[in-house]
Amino acid sequence: MALPVVAILGRPNVGKSTFVNRLCRSREAIVHDQPGVTRDRSYQEAYWRDHHFKVVDTGGLVFADDSEFLPEIREQAQLALEEAAAAVLVVDGQHGLTAADESIAEWLRFQKVPVLVAVNKCESPQQGLSMAAEFWTLGLGEPFAISAIHGAGTGELLDHLVTLLPPAPEEEGEEPIQMAIIGRPNVGKSSLLNAICGERRAIVSATRGTTRDTIDTTLEREDRVWKLLDTAGIRRRGSVEYGPEFFGVNRSLKAIDRSDVCVLVIDALDGVTEQDQRLAGLIEEGGRACVVVVNKWDAVEKDSHTLHQMEKDLRSRLYFLDWAPMLFTSALTGQRVQGIFPLAAAAVEQHRRRVSTSVVNEVLQEALRWRSPPATRAGRQGRLYYGTQVASKPPSFTLFVNDPKLFGDTYRRYVERQLREGLGFEGTPIRLFWRGKQQRDAERDQARHGVEHR
Ligand code: GDP
Ligand code: GDP
Repeated sequence: MALPVVAILGRPNVGKSTFVNRLCRSREAIVHDQPGVTRDRSYQEAYWRDHHFKVVDTGGLVFADDSEFLPEIREQAQLALEEAAAAVLVVDGQHGLTAADESIAEWLRFQKVPVLVAVNKCESPQQGLSMAAEFWTLGLGEPFAISAIHGAGTGELLDHLVTLLPPAPEEEGEEPIQMAIIGRPNVGKSSLLNAICGERRAIVSATRGTTRDTIDTTLEREDRVWKLLDTAGIRRRGSVEYGPEFFGVNRSLKAIDRSDVCVLVIDALDGVTEQDQRLAGLIEEGGRACVVVVNKWDAVEKDSHTLHQMEKDLRSRLYFLDWAPMLFTSALTGQRVQGIFPLAAAAVEQHRRRVSTSVVNEVLQEALRWRSPPATRAGRQGRLYYGTQVASKPPSFTLFVNDPKLFGDTYRRYVERQLREGLGFEGTPIRLFWRGKQQRDAERDQARHGVEHR
């Protein structure tokens, strides 16, 4: 099903791309400082609550003399609107109502698409609402006071916006969960696949590299449909010669890309090798959910301490997957093999999860209370203003701070740990973006426009 499209319109420099940046997971959209820089229409994906939609920034609607809505520009905007389920007209609250805003609004009133007015640059809580009130006269309903830079008001706007979109398709769960079985040759991937499926789908062989091709297998477990993306035994690229095997490696890397969740298979007899670490790195970098499966458990000589000690040792070499659950299996006896599914399902759920801004900030406040951000010798203190989840798959958070440079690795890791402790996210990587730029922008704007900020 095609995603609904939301068109963002407005005259140049009102903050459209800043707004789009805030909505969308990728931070590609570039903020221009010169008024009137036109851009090609570009689509980006956005998520809000259960809604998934595309945002198209129409670029600045440029005017001949700041009021005349040129026909060719109108045509461009018309094209963008034709496919849109809703539109957001962005205006500049600090600058106030302009003739250009009025002519865009006048035109929009005759379009079939529902429109919301976003009055941007309203970061001042006292003045914001009165700044926004001025835009009632556009005749497009209640104007929303927002600050694209700080995020204030955008949640409320989005809550309204998604009510204008066609309902989200029921349950992402109806889509099969794509699961990639990843691991270096001979760890037991195809044996596991056989044990899982209960039939000889893949040929098991003690010789390396017999399973060359990726085979997708669909099955049902845990009331879900799963697609297992079998891999051809990923080998280190360097040790591979260009032959059929090379393409196998490529396809395995693609399997990581295609997957929702990766099952990283480790050989219990070998422990975590360098190749395993490399694969783990690819999974983490790819932002995939992950379950670590330690296979050939039957072949390990055990005493009562083994499992605990072994997990500790393995984890110390897989520290960048410390969020991933670990399961000890035997493809040979079938022990715990079906246990992969509940763990993978939980990991996928966490991978897709969204947390409200208020909950994120409760956790951040708590973290700040326990440990203040570092200060420089000169006495400059790091300040963390607030954070918000900007994307899922994997869950990604933007943290707004005075200056990211004041936050060293130790403190960043601390905040990440606190977020995990407070919010969970077991089985999925999370991303934190430390942003301080808006602060400088606001200061620059203040200098430029002489407008007072708090
Ligand atoms: P566009 O041309 O409409 O896409 O506008 P941009 O997103 O490029 O933003 C234009 C200028 O407005 C940039 O200098 C931004 O930093 C600034 N800006 C954007 N959003 C806000 C906001 O919420 N508050 C303030 N004070 N400035 C903003
Ligand atoms: P792949 O290359 O990762 O697909 O590994 P295979 O599934 O082909 O297994 C490689 C070798 O390990 C074969 O000789 C299997 O019989 C053996 N093997 C796989 N799983 C287990 C297990 O759980 N226990 C034991 N003891 N051997 C296993």
